This record gives sequence, C-alpha cells and structure tokens, in this order.
Amino acid sequence: MDLKLYHFMPDKLNLYGDIGNVIALKKRCEWRGINLEIENITSTDGVKLTDCDMFFIGGGSDREQCIATEQFSKIKNEFKSAIEDGIPALTICGGYQFLGEYYKTVDGDKLPGLNILDFYTESKKDAPRLIGNILVESEKFGNIVGFENHGGRTYHNYETLGNVVVGYGNNDEDKKEGILYNNLIGTYLHGPILPKNPNVTDYLIKAALDNKYGTYDFIELNNDIELNANKHMVELLKKSVK
Ligand code: GLN
Repeated sequence: MDLKLYHFMPDKLNLYGDIGNVIALKKRCEWRGINLEIENITSTDGVKLTDCDMFFIGGGSDREQCIATEQFSKIKNEFKSAIEDGIPALTICGGYQFLGEYYKTVDGDKLPGLNILDFYTESKKDAPRLIGNILVESEKFGNIVGFENHGGRTYHNYETLGNVVVGYGNNDEDKKEGILYNNLIGTYLHGPILPKNPNVTDYLIKAALDNKYGTYDFIELNNDIELNANKHMVELLKKSVK
C-alpha cells in the first residue's frame, strides 16, 4: 500500500522536535510494509490537497507564523474541503492556531487565521507563557504525553483530545487540550507527540488507509517500548503535581 503525506513549511514550522512526527508516521508505515511518500511543501502555489492522503503542519514562532499565514491563505478553500472530506491531518501549536479565526500576539497584532473552524486564539499581555510537560487523559487515545510552549490561548466548543491532568492545553482555564474534528487533530503538544503516543500515530495512518483503500489488513505492532516510555512519563508527571 502507498500513502502520500504533505509536510507544510518544514523549513519554518518545526519547533521542539516537530519533525519527529513525520519520522514516526514514516516508520510505523514502513514496519507495516506501507510506503509513505513525504512531500515537503514550501510554497503553496498550485498545491492540491486531493493529491495527498494526509498532511502535517508543525509549530512556529510568531514571525514564522506570520510568513506561513500568507502561504496558507492562498489555498484556504483546499484546506477547508480536505478537512470536511475527512483527510487525516496533524497540526501542532502555531499550525493548530492557523485553522481558527485569528491569533492575537502578545503585542496585540491580530494574525488572521484560515477561519476554517470556529475558534480563536489570544495571547494575554502580562500573563505567562504556558510552558512545560503535559499529560492529557483521552477517552479515544489513552494517556497522551508531550511538551507545550505557547503564549496563545485557544477557545472553542468542539470535541477535544481530552482532559488536561498536568499542564495547560488549549488555555489556562478549560483544562481541555486540542481539537478532534473529522480526522483532523490540532494540538499544543510538541515533544514530538507521535513517537510518544503511538495510538495517535496509528489513528492517522488508519484514517488515511480507510479513505484510500476501504478494506485492508492493518498489522498491529508491538508497542511495548513506546507504551513503557509513555507510562513512565505519566507516573513522573502525576508525581510532580502531588
Ligand atoms: N507563536 C505561537 C504561540 O506562542 C505558537 C508557538 C508554537 O508553535 N509553539 O502561541
């Protein structure tokens, strides 16, 4: 089986090991005999999302986010239809913020988002950045662990990835993290998220295979190493707040 992943702006949007997500997707496909072709997209001119099976957008500083916004807005309708059609996608931090109406920086500048989903993000003046390791309890994925570092606080009423046990997540009020909308995952978790949380990685791969092939044999992998590392972090993080 073959899948194609579009990795948007890898040269600009790659904070705290975000590239590791692409490596995890590639590896977990390879271990199953699936060929995952990765195409780096640095300019959106002529890009059609119907030509790929999933896409990934990492996080970025405010400056890089501003540059990337210009590129993304050119194919806003492409993103909207792909997300509505259930393309699996992972978008991290700044990449997640793009999908909403706007991101207001700490200096008060309002960067327009793609306005694909009904949410907004604001940094608060004189409020701390939300930094540190994070633990999320998710009904769908189990314990999700990662690292967050953002000034923006995101507010929405969509389904989330789960409840924040340690850390902040979407903002410093709701105790909820991320978004799950069709097969799109938006999250504040760097770290990177996928190698530490194989259930999330496999969710994206399965969704891509479902869309492309319908029926197929999905090979289960031995996740002992990944899940032990995840469990270790869960224990450490729970202890840290006792
Ligand atoms: N610049 C954004 C913020 O601070 C996103 C940062 C990131 O992607 N880690 O909220």
